Amino acid sequence: MTEHADIARVKRCPICGKPRQVRFRPFCSKRCADLDLHRWFSGVYAVPGTEVEEEESAPKAARED
Ligand SMILES: [Zn+2]
Repeated sequence: MTEHADIARVKRCPICGKPRQVRFRPFCSKRCADLDLHRWFSGVYAVPGTEVEEEESAPKAARED
C-alpha cells in the first residue's frame, strides 16, 4: 500500500549499483546492459585460435600472376 516501500525494494543495477530502469532492466542504462553483455560474451567466447586462425591460415590462396 505504500509506494515508498516499493521504491526501497527496487533492484539495483548489478554493474554500477544504481537503481535500475525498467526499460533497461535489470540494469540502470543501456551502457551497463551493453557492458554486462560484452563481459558475458567475452567470457563465453574466449576461445583463442578458433576463428582468428582462419585469417592467418590461407597461404595456398596465393594469387598466381
Ligand atoms: Zn548501471
